[in-house]
Amino acid sequence: MSSPTLPKSSRKGRSGAIDPEERKSLLSGSDEGPSDADNFNWKETETEPDSERGWSRNRIICSAVCLIALLITGAFARTVFLGPAPPTHPTLLFHGDNVRSNGTHDFKRTVLIVSIDGLRADYLDRGLTPHLLDISKQGLRAKALVPIFPRLRIQLYFSNHWALMTGLYAESNGMVGNNFWDPVSQSEFHYNRIDSAWNPAWWLGEPMWETAGKAGIITANLMWPGPPKTTSGASSTYFVPWKDKVPLQEKLDQLLHWIDSPFEERPQLLMMYEPSLDQAGHKAGPASALVNKTLAQVDVFAKDLHIALQARNLTDIVDVVFVSDHGMTDTSHPEHIYIDDILGDGYDAIEHEDGWPAMGLRFAPTANVSHNLDLLRSAAAASKGTFDVYTHETMPQRYHFAHSERIAPIYVVPKIGYILTTHAEGDVGMSKGNHGYDNAAPAMHAMFVAHGPFPAVVKVLHQDLARRRLSRPNKGWHSTADDTYVMDVFPNVQIYSLVMRLLGVDNPAPTNGSAAFWDKYF
Ligand SMILES: [Zn+2]
Repeated sequence: MSSPTLPKSSRKGRSGAIDPEERKSLLSGSDEGPSDADNFNWKETETEPDSERGWSRNRIICSAVCLIALLITGAFARTVFLGPAPPTHPTLLFHGDNVRSNGTHDFKRTVLIVSIDGLRADYLDRGLTPHLLDISKQGLRAKALVPIFPRLRIQLYFSNHWALMTGLYAESNGMVGNNFWDPVSQSEFHYNRIDSAWNPAWWLGEPMWETAGKAGIITANLMWPGPPKTTSGASSTYFVPWKDKVPLQEKLDQLLHWIDSPFEERPQLLMMYEPSLDQAGHKAGPASALVNKTLAQVDVFAKDLHIALQARNLTDIVDVVFVSDHGMTDTSHPEHIYIDDILGDGYDAIEHEDGWPAMGLRFAPTANVSHNLDLLRSAAAASKGTFDVYTHETMPQRYHFAHSERIAPIYVVPKIGYILTTHAEGDVGMSKGNHGYDNAAPAMHAMFVAHGPFPAVVKVLHQDLARRRLSRPNKGWHSTADDTYVMDVFPNVQIYSLVMRLLGVDNPAPTNGSAAFWDKYF
């Protein structure tokens, strides 16, 4: 396929491929060495002005000591009596209630969050996304966004999208599988049945559109997975329900229609969902031509969106956050693990089988559960690490997947490359690409790219620090040779707090993210 053209704003005019040096820098996780800014200012401080050349050495030293003493005393007095210095960058003072003009119209600070389902973090290094990379160079990027466990396969990818919306892990947000049994309500959740999927009782936590609505913010939801209403009766101001195969251009038109609407009707928080890349990944596998073609289409959408915002002079007003929910791994030639072989007659005593590719098991009350658990554990031990068996008590803490009665008491989790099945099922329903494996695996990692006033401020703050020679090893941050700012890997439950901070919402709902996570960036 021909490679997409770069926008004029691309400084290097090269393809989107990351050169080996930059890639090394992106993935190294090491702190940056001295930046160009550092070198420049270091030289500057060493240069003596012409007018001072006639001064004696002693006089210079004496003056310098007095000046430093004055500065220290002043800074100390200021801190004690006045508190820390107020933010100076205009964008730091631009909060949700404030109004800024784009030259012709007034706008409140606006956040657009776009989910490209199944965009694996390292897809951005394939040389097929020059525009997303260019946007990240103007803004910022994370090495990866870590999805929650488990991620669901097939069609609607609720769990991670609900984690992004609520800031909660599955054990707290209620979406513990694409199908699962709830022993409390004695009913089963089905991702593909609208009476199930739109029943708010299944969806726990407070989505960002509900929190924003409480703060009087107008919200618009373009197909983001989740129910149209929560149990409290809250809904987004505008809601376009999910529909398959809607062209990206139509979605862009809808977003721009909202952005162009009158001030009193215009949403400040917009959410958009795009499934085509995930569908391509399942159908043909992550290394397929179909994925690459769809990736390029998604990249063109990012370019068109960016150009439309630039044309409206909105790049200092609208924060655009591109995320994905998980990665994708090749499962075209999986190794089979036959659960019926392991359990023998015990297999027939399974009452409910939840999730996939990880499998939650609930046995009938009459079954010998501990015997079946022993069989599974022995098989896992003999399998030389191809799968693990967990109970709520032994589930790894990093999965945050134990504290809910909706989570089956026994979970079997295969390693990448393996699938759990039975002789009767075989490969039925199996696709060439899948997710839902251990979320520590890089192939499961998702993307984070942001552009707008927030990343612009982050860059300014970072450069200011460097300029003032105060930059300590800046944990989590480094800049690549061409000025891309790359955040360390972070969990997707932090996104909720970011959006709330950007909108200036002071009383967000409790989440599994840390309220302080974004402090250093604001
Ligand atoms: Zn998927």
